[in-house]
Amino acid sequence: MNLVDRDRQHIWHPYSAVGSPSPIYPVVAAEGVRLKLDDGRELIDGMSSWWCAVHGYNHPVLNEAAMQQLDKMSHVMFGGLTHPPAVELAETLVELSPWGLQKVFFVDSGSVAIEAAMKMALQTQIARGQSQRHLFLSPRGGYHGDTLDAMSVCDPITGMHALFEGVLPKQVFIERPEPAFGEHCTEQHLAQLEQVFAEQGDQLAAMILEPIVQGAGGMRFYAPEYLQAARRLCDEHGVLLIADEIATGFGRSGKLFAVEHADITPDILCVGKALTGGYLSLAAVLTTDEMANDIASGEPGVFMHGPTFMGNPLACAIAKASIDLLCANDWQQQVLQIEQGLQQGLAPAKTFTHVAEVRVLGAIGVVELTHPVDMSSVQPMFVERGVWVRPFGKLVYLMPPFVMSSGDLAQLTDALVDVVANLQIKDGVAVPLSA
Ligand SMILES: *Cc1c(COP(=O)(O)O)cnc(C)c1O
Repeated sequence: MNLVDRDRQHIWHPYSAVGSPSPIYPVVAAEGVRLKLDDGRELIDGMSSWWCAVHGYNHPVLNEAAMQQLDKMSHVMFGGLTHPPAVELAETLVELSPWGLQKVFFVDSGSVAIEAAMKMALQTQIARGQSQRHLFLSPRGGYHGDTLDAMSVCDPITGMHALFEGVLPKQVFIERPEPAFGEHCTEQHLAQLEQVFAEQGDQLAAMILEPIVQGAGGMRFYAPEYLQAARRLCDEHGVLLIADEIATGFGRSGKLFAVEHADITPDILCVGKALTGGYLSLAAVLTTDEMANDIASGEPGVFMHGPTFMGNPLACAIAKASIDLLCANDWQQQVLQIEQGLQQGLAPAKTFTHVAEVRVLGAIGVVELTHPVDMSSVQPMFVERGVWVRPFGKLVYLMPPFVMSSGDLAQLTDALVDVVANLQIKDGVAVPLSA
């Protein structure tokens, strides 16, 4: 049996059924911005493995950091022990993150970072004598992960609240953040936000949002003024602000952290994904001295969380090397160049009748179609053109590694535009012209 058939016997892939006939490609190696398939084909990577691989694959500097740490220890428990990789990474995160965030809690994945952030907010409110505040406010269109509490603050439709009705905690939702990035924010745009704080502000533990870029919930970019208004209203109503920068952190939106577009500091900041440059699963929750002190002075005097693989030394060592590399590489220039390449390369798609919008921010380029893509028939069209692009719903999008050359980027955007040009809408879905 070949690898794909063996895979189909046993394995689930993200949001899939075991044994699904939709195409799946065996990858045997990856180097720079190219994925190598087992049949010898090479694909230019347009996804950075879901926001992560900002330096590309098989990077000598990150490999070296991993080897060095492997020779010392790959893991050791974090209860009662500490080690240089965790301390050095924490210091670096505190130094680079927005002013005021001083304390770091390491976890193993983005979803768990959200769980820890939500618990941190609840414990802080309890410690402040505000135990009636147990709700979270979240804008629609958000994505915060797949565990149950993270799901409870995801968009109710894409987050499948109906399916898990009765299990998910019921949170407070408002419309998607408006206006779009680059548009002028009026009182009208903020009216619902003002209203929900006025009506339910005293029951809210925290507001949770993805700053500026809503990722998996729709790939939309919104105005910094919305974020500033959220910060102001949280302050006025004693509500904590959780910024989920798991997708946007480390330069993707054109700022090191997307909250910098609005020049605000959240009470809690979650990072993950690109933290290790895509090498290992690691995430972190940053917060203020004030919150850490409140948690310490409340009942039971400790923060009630502690994953087995907390502060994994191998992951921390690679993360530290990845952040150093980012700074050494002049990531701002890299992201700016990608932004320009995406704007130029994706522009031809604007004229297609089945394209609703083309938008670019930082190293994120989105072609939103008028109808959802039929993945099974469309995925092979990208592979045939030598690129790795994984659409979802109506969105065909790119978030390339920051190290991509302008030549490779032009090939990537040309391939994407060519695929979209060769789609038609049939029975409400986008399928190949030949279908
Ligand atoms: C991916 C993502 C998460 C979840 O991270 P996992 O590592 O997949 O658990 C949470 N929030 C945002 C914004 C994300 O993009």
